[in-house]
Amino acid sequence: MNHDRLAKRIKSPLLRKEPLKLHTTWKVGGPADLFISLKYQEDLPEILDYSRQNRIPLFVFGSGSNLLVKDGGLKGIALQMGADFAGHSFRGRILRAKAGANLSRLASVTAEEGLSGLEFAAGIPGSAGGALLMNAGAYGGRIADIFHRALAITHAGEEELLKPADMEFGYRHTRLMERDTIIIWVELALTPGDPSLIREAVRKNMALRRERHPYEPSAGSVFKNPPQGPAGHFIEKAGLKGLEIGGARVSEKHANFIVNTGRARAEEILALMAKVQEEVYQKFGIALKPEVRVIGY
Ligand SMILES: Cc1cc2nc3c(=O)[nH]c(=O)nc-3n(C[C@H](O)[C@H](O)[C@H](O)COP(=O)(O)OP(=O)(O)OC[C@H]3O[C@@H](n4cnc5c(N)ncnc54)[C@H](O)[C@@H]3O)c2cc1C
Repeated sequence: MNHDRLAKRIKSPLLRKEPLKLHTTWKVGGPADLFISLKYQEDLPEILDYSRQNRIPLFVFGSGSNLLVKDGGLKGIALQMGADFAGHSFRGRILRAKAGANLSRLASVTAEEGLSGLEFAAGIPGSAGGALLMNAGAYGGRIADIFHRALAITHAGEEELLKPADMEFGYRHTRLMERDTIIIWVELALTPGDPSLIREAVRKNMALRRERHPYEPSAGSVFKNPPQGPAGHFIEKAGLKGLEIGGARVSEKHANFIVNTGRARAEEILALMAKVQEEVYQKFGIALKPEVRVIGY
């Protein structure tokens, strides 16, 4: 199938056999049969119809900062809601961000507006859509605390206006994770505050990240923190910092990060993740669960 029919009907850029390692922060991942970076919302019904009628699987993603795409790539359509689908506006203290808007940039923009609530997100490289789906959080804040409402479209093409009660927020979890829903925009309710204090909090959080996080390509924290404490603490105590499999290494700087030292394959990252889980389980009886989402074949 060469997908010419779809290519002729939409205005958003469409690429065939696009390596997904170009679109993930880990810089790994094989090709997607079809890669579309959504630019025009009016293309969405066409893409959804095409996927449904031809039984072609559709995977939606944002900045690819919490994804491990396997080396065999993705069958079907990879629909990116990223920089091509960004933008934001304010209505009083409500921020509306299109799904592809960069979360860290939104933290800076809201600080400039003298609106507090997103300081925790400074430096998180995800999109607004990805951050909502994952209930992203850091330094005591999380999306759930400021979520107002969001517009989503199901793969069947139905619009849904989502309110806090629809989300079932948990630790790095929302109900949307189990459903085929495309987030279009997200509204966050912020609180007016002193702009200089908000800017200072943003600067502090950025500085903490620079100090504590590695510079090499990664997907942030690999494992969720278990109830017993931070995952990184147990990985470090198990003596795993610096452990390497191929091009994948447990970061020396932050044990819950696995970095790509240059030419890592997803297979090597997966093998290292399994090794870390095995060692931590053997030493502490703790079963670490991945925070990153693994996709592809
Ligand atoms: C250096 C670094 C630091 C990080 N620090 C943190 C941190 O402090 N806290 C934290 O919570 N996370 C952190 N992360 C992880 C990541 O940035 C967040 O989980 C982020 O919210 C993911 O957003 P994304 O757009 O990259 O999502 P992606 O990785 O592209 O996708 C993640 C999931 O969201 C879904 N998704 C994305 N967009 C949409 C959409 N529009 N509609 C429907 N589903 C969608 C995808 O299908 C996938 O299941 C970090 C990552 C890195 C690389």
